[in-house]
Amino acid sequence: MAQTVGFIGLGIMGKPMARNLIKAGYSLVVYNRTASKAAELVELGARQVESPRAVGAGADVVITIVSDSPEVESVVLGDNGVIEGIAEGGVVVDMSSISPITTQRIAAELKGRGVAMLDAPVSGGEIGAIQGTLSIMVGGEESVFSRVKPILESMGKSVVRVGEVGAGGFAKLSNQIIVAGVLQAVSEAMVLAKKAGVDIQLVYEAIRGGMAGGRTLDMKIPAFVEGKFEPGFKMDLHIKDVKNALLAGKALGVALPSTGLVHELFSSCSAQGKGQKDHSVIFTLLEQLSGLRQVGR
Ligand code: NAP
Repeated sequence: MAQTVGFIGLGIMGKPMARNLIKAGYSLVVYNRTASKAAELVELGARQVESPRAVGAGADVVITIVSDSPEVESVVLGDNGVIEGIAEGGVVVDMSSISPITTQRIAAELKGRGVAMLDAPVSGGEIGAIQGTLSIMVGGEESVFSRVKPILESMGKSVVRVGEVGAGGFAKLSNQIIVAGVLQAVSEAMVLAKKAGVDIQLVYEAIRGGMAGGRTLDMKIPAFVEGKFEPGFKMDLHIKDVKNALLAGKALGVALPSTGLVHELFSSCSAQGKGQKDHSVIFTLLEQLSGLRQVGR
């Protein structure tokens, strides 16, 4: 019989990841706070339940991918949480991007009940989630990793264990620092070209093969050209990651000066009411600062 996997969080990332697990032959038991988002997966054969606790009771490997640290704490450790349902010997795999310090605290609680935890945040965006080509960075015990790896390989093309629990989260924070910095630089560069009256699509085509080329440039240029910023990856979620990186830097005594600046700029964009837009919407703040766009538009 197909192995049953529990899945909690059917947002932009979670739903296509869950779909890929079904395609790979796993039986799924799913929960989402907004129940209607599970309809498509139920049609594909998933069993929908009414609480994270019921997911825990129905599967010995439970995946979570929700927004941030408090939400993971709530679905795993809270009232009606996974911890109340999952049997000893089970595994919780949190694929959200959260504070690694919180991850380690949750893992310790679970361990006290005989349940293992991996943190396995992802990179590759909605497209990577749909295509099953995510990069997955994993922290946790080697033996637990080996047990769960085939499940993760159904959702990603690169699955790398980087250390003990929490290490996946630190890898993800590093990833998000790089993406934020590159996105900021790409946005500034393209606003300069635009203000100079040069077609930014052509600038992109001219530079993409050189050292400035890369995935962030490839993925975000269409949004700049079309002026459409539907998510994708929500600005408020990226601010959450950059904030978690700054907190980790403070805790460890690591200076992250340009990340601090990017945090201020991204936060200003969110303060304008653009937090639910794609993070590429930072381009519009830079347009405003350069007189290319009315403030607040
Ligand atoms: P999203 O579309 O906003 O989905 C968030 C999910 O979390 C939804 O299922 C939401 O339920 C659930 N949720 C939020 N608060 C909750 C609560 N208090 N209790 C229970 N469930 C709750 O976000 P996403 O883009 O899928 O991102 C999910 C995670 O993946 C985040 O940590 C994000 O940083 C990370 N990530 C995202 C991307 C990307 O490109 N989007 C890439 C890599 C990593 P509802 O449906 O009820 O709102």
